[in-house]
Amino acid sequence: MIKIQKGDEPQVITDNIAEWEGILRGHEAAGTNPSDTQLNRYRHDDIKAALLAETHRKCAYCESRFGHVYYGDIEHVTPKKLGIEHRFRWENLTIACRICNTNKGIKENLVDPYIHDPEDLFYIQGPTILPLPDSSIARFTEMTIDLNRSELLERRNEKLRKLHDLLTLANEASDPDLKEALYEQLKSRETADEMEYAAIARAYVSSLVAQGLIPAASAPAA
Ligand SMILES: [Zn+2]
Repeated sequence: MIKIQKGDEPQVITDNIAEWEGILRGHEAAGTNPSDTQLNRYRHDDIKAALLAETHRKCAYCESRFGHVYYGDIEHVTPKKLGIEHRFRWENLTIACRICNTNKGIKENLVDPYIHDPEDLFYIQGPTILPLPDSSIARFTEMTIDLNRSELLERRNEKLRKLHDLLTLANEASDPDLKEALYEQLKSRETADEMEYAAIARAYVSSLVAQGLIPAASAPAA
């Protein structure tokens, strides 16, 4: 999990939220059932596109990247069942993989990557994301979302192996420019927000730097 910056509210929400909520409130007052279309306006293509952009096409919780077939499920940070005001509000929407979405269910008070910086609440050992012992919200989140389920550990291990191979290539490169470019790829590109499992990659690179296995700063340009 990494911190996510909320993007601009899609125009379709700004223009329609009052009407969308009003229709649901009308049904509530009349004791009638809204249609699925009326309930699911938050699934509008523009909203989904904006959420995919701000999450870098990754699950907001586990950082798994969405494929070309599956684009993730829109997730309500505060469960939509708790009130009409939570259903369409831009600040309450994000996107998650099906497993994280299901695991979170209607639970509240989890680490919110739009508000908290998860890298301040968890520490990372290899492929495992652990809550800091003094953070009850991180503990609750790790358990609820199951942030260390076996398929995630497997995929994060593949990522670590790829980073290790890059490190080996960099160490063995005899051309100084190539060596520098490979270190830069390892330190900057592979740890960028848009990369899958960026938090794991950052922790790995930090540990390499701490152990003196890669140079901390890039060599000054010649
Ligand atoms: Zn996920």
